[in-house]
Amino acid sequence: MSDEISKAHSVIAETLAAIHDKIAAAEQAYKAQTGFDRPVTLVAVSKRQPDDRIDAALAAGQRVFGENRVQEAQGRWGPRRDRHADLTLHLIGPLQTNKAGDAVALFDVIEVVDRPKLAKALGDEMSRQNRHLECYIQVNTGKEAQKSGIAPEDADDFIAYCRDEAGLKITGLMCIPPIEEEAAMHFALLQTIAKRNDLSILSMGMSDDFEEAIAFGATAVRIGSAIFGARDS
Ligand SMILES: *Cc1c(COP(=O)(O)O)cnc(C)c1O
Repeated sequence: MSDEISKAHSVIAETLAAIHDKIAAAEQAYKAQTGFDRPVTLVAVSKRQPDDRIDAALAAGQRVFGENRVQEAQGRWGPRRDRHADLTLHLIGPLQTNKAGDAVALFDVIEVVDRPKLAKALGDEMSRQNRHLECYIQVNTGKEAQKSGIAPEDADDFIAYCRDEAGLKITGLMCIPPIEEEAAMHFALLQTIAKRNDLSILSMGMSDDFEEAIAFGATAVRIGSAIFGARDS
């Protein structure tokens, strides 16, 4: 290993350790406030990151990763799957219906189920491939036109559709709050919808707001740049 690579490795290992400490402190605070244990999963968002940083995170023991594009993820994780059987890969970016088959073949968790046509395509593919992945519903809590996700007022019906008609194993909800707004109200809204629908997983919180998300009951935080540094554009 060259000096440069081993330096990158130790920086990422230290950064990961620091983030785990912050997550642990936020879990403690949640417990002190509510009386409930909410263990939080760190999803390391590896999209558009160079290979040496990904391998550094793997060397440091990180096993759960998030990607937003199917094709990019295939290139990055196809070969690494063979070396690490215990990986868990989350799809966190918008999914086209015609990529549902590839997504089901590669990923372990689909966080972005947001419309009936996609839910149906995923359900069909999971039956065909006999791979019944965990799915989260993406909720467009800020009702932003450019953002994917089901509208909050349609979430209950859509969750029922996904479970009863599309045959998906819906275990949680995911949201990406609008950047220009207070994230807290979006986290609170997601928590309300989850409670109403008996869903235990809440994927919310990114590099800048994951501790706040945990205070609102997040069970999965998706962190990219705070672990790996800036992405390739
Ligand atoms: C890129 C991305 C993240 C990670 O963002 P950071 O600010 O780098 O932590 C989290 N969630 C989704 C859906 C993303 O696309």
